[in-house]
Amino acid sequence: MTSEILKNEYGISEKLLKLSDKIEAECSARFKEVDEVAEFNQLKILRAFQRVKLSPAHFAPSYGYGYSDIGREKLEELYCAVFNCEAAIVRPAIASGTHALAIGLFGLLKQGDLLVSASGAPYDTLESAIGISGDEPGSLKELGVTYKQVDLTENGLNYEAIAELCQKERPAVVMLQKSRGYSSRNSLSVGEIEKAVKVIKRASSNTVVFIDNCYGEFVETVEPTEAGADIVVGSLIKNPGGGLAPTGGYIVGKKALIDRIANRLTSPGIGAEVGSYAASYLPFFQGLYLAPNAVGQALKGAIFAAALFENLGYKVSPGYMDRRSCIIQSVYMQNKEEVIKFCQAIQKCSPVESHVIPEPWAMPGYQDEVIMAAGTFIQGASIELSADAPIRPPYLVFLQGGLVYAQVKAAVLTAAQRLML
Ligand SMILES: *Cc1c(COP(=O)(O)O)cnc(C)c1O
Repeated sequence: MTSEILKNEYGISEKLLKLSDKIEAECSARFKEVDEVAEFNQLKILRAFQRVKLSPAHFAPSYGYGYSDIGREKLEELYCAVFNCEAAIVRPAIASGTHALAIGLFGLLKQGDLLVSASGAPYDTLESAIGISGDEPGSLKELGVTYKQVDLTENGLNYEAIAELCQKERPAVVMLQKSRGYSSRNSLSVGEIEKAVKVIKRASSNTVVFIDNCYGEFVETVEPTEAGADIVVGSLIKNPGGGLAPTGGYIVGKKALIDRIANRLTSPGIGAEVGSYAASYLPFFQGLYLAPNAVGQALKGAIFAAALFENLGYKVSPGYMDRRSCIIQSVYMQNKEEVIKFCQAIQKCSPVESHVIPEPWAMPGYQDEVIMAAGTFIQGASIELSADAPIRPPYLVFLQGGLVYAQVKAAVLTAAQRLML
């Protein structure tokens, strides 16, 4: 049945369909592992919903200052329960993951402080916020915060170098990025984060451990807050929004630190007590509830893509058998034309704007041209299936998300079919 529609409507050849069946069989043990994590996280999240006693009244919108906005308060209480931590800021008014990370860093860091990124270069968009490159007005650098970085080794975190730097310089904040982001490094497991927390705290007990958790939520059965991290930050249009949250970001962790950050979120003295949302909070609750399943579907899609392209002779990272701590999959194309074909096939298999053909363009802030496929309901939501790539060697395409495995499979097969032609 499935092969018929893939053949007749999606133009997948008999030969590729045979390979697809073989690959799915080979992936079945991996898929089972993903299902088990998703089931565990689903039950963990369901318990959290029950513990906070969610009711329909919490879905209601609010206006103006939003004093005693029970929807906002319940959503933050729920994130505390899910992330097993003391306090949470969860707001639709946070415009993106970068915004959430910037609020957190600006809330914690003062003039003269040292910020260390212990997982190598941070995500691209943070470079301007920190002031690593250029002189962006309002950056941490302009504020008088210095920055240092401990690069990753071939085996991941350089614990010795992190310990030495912490001992010597007592950084105010050490930041770790869980996901590989748009680089070729490996993602960090919560286990590795836990070890880093111990190393950092032993060397400098007052240092705040700050985790960029974007793309990492619910890929494992524990979150960084449960492994000793002080502050954990992410985007609601990625994993924890479950594809339904229309916008927003979250910052969770230790109460005293969240209070400081809340003073930056709004104003010193006001903190987290205000903030309204004139639409319903329903999709934030419902999206969090569906998030473990969405992450599971995305992971299965990524594993299938890795196995398929590896089988077709492409280099992929991570490999389909490799451990995963985030939802990003990279596939190395052979040239610019292949990158374009791949992304156009992903777009064509989307539920929204499938008729649009993405082309490489000179995106502001990027050195090389970039092509992006994102036929998503929520603009830019990368928990929905999307693919992007800078047009430069080694012609790496980043594939992530997928609310339903069936779409990822069809899209990846379509890409493979087009590349074989
Ligand atoms: C997506 C992402 C960000 C930034 O989020 P935006 O919503 O794109 O601003 C930061 N860090 C990592 C690891 C990400 O994946």
